[in-house]
Formats: sequence, C-alpha cells, structure tokens
Amino acid sequence: MPTYNAPLRDMKFVMEEVLNVGQLTEYEKFAEADTETLDAILEQSAKFTSEVLAPLNAVGDHEGCVRHPDGSVTTPTGFKEAYQQVVEGGMMGLAQDPEYGGMGMPGVWHIAAGEMQSAANMAFAMYPGLTNGAIKAIEIGGSDAQKQTYLPKMISGEWTGTMNLTEPHCGTDLGMLKTKAVPNSDGSYKITGQKIFISAGEHDMSDNIIHLCLARIEGAPAGVKGISLFIVPKFKLDADGNPAERNTVTCGSIEEKMGIHGNSTCVMNYDEAEGYLIGEENKGLRVMFVMMNRARLDVGMQGLAQSEVAYQNAASYAKDRTQGRALTGPKNEDGPADPIIVHPDVRRMLMETKAFNEGGRALVYWSALLEDLEGVHADEKFREKADDYLGLLTPVIKGYLTDMAMKTTIDCQQIFGGHGFIEEWGMSQFVRDTRIALIYEGANGVQALDLVGRKLARNGGRALMTLNAEIDAFLKENGDNEKLAEFMTGLKDAKDKLTQGTMWLMQNGMSNPNNAGAGSVDYMHMMGLTSLAYMWAMMGVTAQKAIDDGSNEDFYPNKIITGRYFMLRMLPMMDAHLAKIKTGAEPVMALEAAAF
Ligand SMILES: Cc1cc2nc3c(=O)[nH]c(=O)nc-3n(C[C@H](O)[C@H](O)[C@H](O)COP(=O)(O)OP(=O)(O)OC[C@H]3O[C@@H](n4cnc5c(N)ncnc54)[C@H](O)[C@@H]3O)c2cc1C
Repeated sequence: MPTYNAPLRDMKFVMEEVLNVGQLTEYEKFAEADTETLDAILEQSAKFTSEVLAPLNAVGDHEGCVRHPDGSVTTPTGFKEAYQQVVEGGMMGLAQDPEYGGMGMPGVWHIAAGEMQSAANMAFAMYPGLTNGAIKAIEIGGSDAQKQTYLPKMISGEWTGTMNLTEPHCGTDLGMLKTKAVPNSDGSYKITGQKIFISAGEHDMSDNIIHLCLARIEGAPAGVKGISLFIVPKFKLDADGNPAERNTVTCGSIEEKMGIHGNSTCVMNYDEAEGYLIGEENKGLRVMFVMMNRARLDVGMQGLAQSEVAYQNAASYAKDRTQGRALTGPKNEDGPADPIIVHPDVRRMLMETKAFNEGGRALVYWSALLEDLEGVHADEKFREKADDYLGLLTPVIKGYLTDMAMKTTIDCQQIFGGHGFIEEWGMSQFVRDTRIALIYEGANGVQALDLVGRKLARNGGRALMTLNAEIDAFLKENGDNEKLAEFMTGLKDAKDKLTQGTMWLMQNGMSNPNNAGAGSVDYMHMMGLTSLAYMWAMMGVTAQKAIDDGSNEDFYPNKIITGRYFMLRMLPMMDAHLAKIKTGAEPVMALEAAAF
C-alpha cells in the first residue's frame, strides 16, 4: 500500500528561503501571515493528508462513487467523514476573504496545502478544489447579494461547488454550447440542457451543491459572444437562506473512467432548473475564464502532486528491492543481490522525477506568490509584471507540468517492474489519476496554442521580454559564482534557445498559422524547461549560500546535486524541441487526411 508524507522540508525551503514568502507580512492584508503560523498550518495539513486522506486513496479507487436510482450519489467509504474534517478544521477557508468567513491567508499557502491534498488523494481533493473555483467565480462576477448568500457557506465548506461547461457536442469549442436560459418574471431564469463530465456534480458530502453553469439566454448571439453564467443550486434557498425545495438539476448518470474513481463525474440534466445570472448577460465566459486560469494552475499542481507521491514510493521501493549487482561491483556483499537503486537506469528515473518535482514546486509556488503580490503591491509596474507573468506561465504550468507528470509517474511505476502493473502496489493508480490532468481545464495542446497564439504576443510580447530582462539581471548578479557555473550556463543557454524558438515562430507563424500550431507543444516545453532552469538557478544560489554560511545539513548539497542533474541531463531537451519547431508544419501536415 503506498504512503504519502508531505515534503515539508522542501516546501519550506521554497517558500521561506528561496521565495521569502515572509515578505507578504509587510502588507496589511497579510500582516498575520508569519512563519510560525505557516509552519503550523503546513504541519497540520501534512498530518491530515498522510493519516486521513492517503489511506483513503486506494479505497476511493476500488469503490468509486455509486449513483442510486433516485439520482443521489454516494462517495467511497470514509470520504464523507474526511470531508467533515476539512469543514471542521476550517481548511476550505485558508486563503479566502475574511469578509465571508475565510482566514485571508496567502494563496501560496493554500497551494502548498492543496499540493498535499492532491498528492494524498487527488479524487478527494477535487471536491474542495472545485468549490474554490466556484467561490472565485462568484467573487469576481457575483452581485453583493449573491456573495452574501453563497460565499459564507461555500467558504466554510458546508456547500460545495461545480463548474458546468462541457456538453456532449462541445468541449474545447464552447461557442457551440446549447444549454438554454429563459427569463422568469422574477429575474431568475429557467435553465434547460445537458452537461456532461461534471466533476463533483452530485455527492453526499455537503448540504447543498452550487452549480455554476454556462448557458445561452434565448435570443443571444451565436458563438462565444452569447454565453452567460448562472448559479444553479441543487436545493433552492428559503427566505432565511437555507436549503429548501429541490431544484430540477439532477445527476442522470456517472461515468466509469480510467482514474480519479473517488470523484463523481456526472451527466447533469437541467430541466427548467431555477438559475440566477452572474454578472452581465452574454459576458459569462469572461468570469469563467478568470476562474479557469486559477483552476489551470491547480491542475498543474495536481500533476506535480501525483509525481511527488509516485516518487516517494518509487524511491523507497528502489532502496528495498534487490535484483542484480551494481555494474561497478556488489554493494550489498552479504546479500544475494544489490538494491535496484544501484542501477544507473533506476537512478535516471528517480533523478528525473526528483529534479522535475522540486523545480516544478518552485515554479507553482512562485506563480502563487506573484498572484498574492499582484493583489497588494503598491507599484503599478510590479502589478503589471505579475499579471504578465501569470498570463504567460499559466498554460505552461498546466500543460508542461502535467505532460511531465505523466512521464514521471510512469517512470516511477517502471521502477516497480511487474509489481508496478499490479493494482495492489498502488503505482497504477498514480498513473491513471494523473492522466486526466492533461485533458481537463483545456487539453494540453490547446494550452500550448493559447501560449503561442495569445499569451506570447499580448502587449507586443511584453511578458516574455520582461521575464528575459529579469533572467539577464539574475545572471549578471550571479554569473561569476564559479560553484554554480553549470547552473548559470544552463540558464543562459536555455534562455537563448527559447529566444530562437520565439523568433522562429514570430517570423513563420503569421504567414502560415500551421507553423505555430505544429510547434506549439514543443515551444510550451521549451518555456517549461527554461522556467524550471530559472527556478533551479534561484534554488542553487540559496542552497550554495547556506553551504557557504556553514550549514552542515545534507539538504543543501543534495539540492545542488539535483539541480545539476536538471541542468546537465534535462535541459538538453531544448535542442530537440527547437529543431522540431524549426521544421515548421510541412512534415506534420503533409499526409492527406484520407491517408490516416
Ligand atoms: C474526468 C473528467 C472530469 C471533467 N470535469 C469537468 C468539469 O468539472 N466541468 C466541465 O465543464 N468539464 C469537465 N470535463 C470536460 C473536459 O474539460 C473536456 O473533456 C475537455 O475540455 C476536452 O473537451 P472534449 O472532451 O469535448 O474534447 P474535444 O474538444 O472534442 O477535443 C478532442 C481533442 O482534440 C484536440 N483539440 C480540440 N480542439 C483543438 C484545437 N482548437 N486545437 C488543437 N487541438 C484541439 C485536443 O487534443 C483534444 O484533446 C471533465 C472531463 C473528464 C474526462
């Protein structure tokens, strides 16, 4: 049975030593977000996730959710009780607005706690995760009355939330959405249509479920310009705001699927269900996109979290399982064989996963810190930079981190040999659960197109130019650090190659958009590699300084060794991606569709 222990030392290293999240206490909003409170929250979350959520992960996988003939859904054994602990512990409200009952702590704290939940039990973590998304949408677009009505109960966790976008004929292309909204005389709407694949659409864990549903008001323009967003509660509220009459939104069926069995993936039927418009008519996508950007960062974090838990179990197995002898001579002379961790190929898989996890963690936390700072920083230029970076990095975090997590979870499964293929060991679940992260919240190919087609060019390419200037300044400051020469050379080289890729796409993507489309995933990976190189260079500087200052904790030299692996063994992929981009679309598109 796999286990999970939150990597607290690494989380604190990134937050406290590399990113200095303590800087947030300088702002009134986060005045109470001190290190002692952070440590206490991380430790409480670590205990809950390793002791409560992780043991339920396999239970959820085996039992799945069950839909009953009346449309109700039961979650796996233990989920309801664990969720009750989330509510009672106030975990939902960690980074939410105190005006509605939240604790008002930084989002970067929330993302660390979320990483732990997703690593221990991804299917479970989606219930509070989707509620967070729905809270965000109501905060951004809701009226004061809607905020007062829904946010306190959702922030306490008593009510959960969902996102209802997808329909049978429309997933990526939301412009084709058909769900209909007809105005009632009292200002509400009758919502009719079918949504599919709705995560947490129906379950037994909360008193009410607040569905956020995209629909088209009768007579609205076709395409994306005619889409509005509605709140549709499972139970309508009485005059005191308590759940009362059942609304006509019901779960028609739940999907049997490859992974995340503990999360109910529902077909939701809207049969003249009562709904309430959020924001303006036909402007629903605007609100939904802000919320989806947040959700995309969370999905990138889900990939990272699965990679971390898979790594922990693979590392432990590799030290325990004995097969064959080290190429350089026996290491375990008293035993019949050496532990498989002596084999360079097993090391390769472990090192690649470890270097990815630690670099990815820094990238996700950095982006969350930028988001926190964007909300409080006095300097408009800084806020602009934070917004630019978040725009640029969101598709990279979603797409690159989950693509990589698919590879690393499979590598970790490989370390178990045949046992990795056997369900009892749990490695298969990590691979299966990770798979969805590449698909939902916009398939990874679509993330790459968003990066190349929209984010890169926005404001005349300002985001990447600013990031490049920041990296240049970092290299100027640290370039003469001989102990970190490989880090600095790696980062500079990555930045230069990324620039070549950018130039090529700019010069060749306009004349033939297929050139941009064919190179976009490679470009997203180049951006991911360069971002991780920057994170590793920053972490290298922090670790080296601790060593130079006399620390004798193994953590720091180990950090340098892992970062060096990234620079020497993972960054060279930049060349392959650049070469592929430069072929353009011709080899990709040459075959006639009929020949496939
Ligand atoms: C387990 C699960 C949970 C989900 N949870 C939710 C949820 O809570 N709420 C919700 O609304 N939806 C949810 N979804 C739906 C999910 O977001 C969609 O499946 C996803 O957006 C892709 O849409 P689609 O399946 O219709 O694929 P399609 O849009 O048909 O796309 C198929 C493939 O074609 C490619 N593609 C499509 N368009 C383009 C393009 N323009 N350029 C390049 N490539 C393209 C992509 O590779 C894509 O994978 C969930 C799905 C699953 C399986």
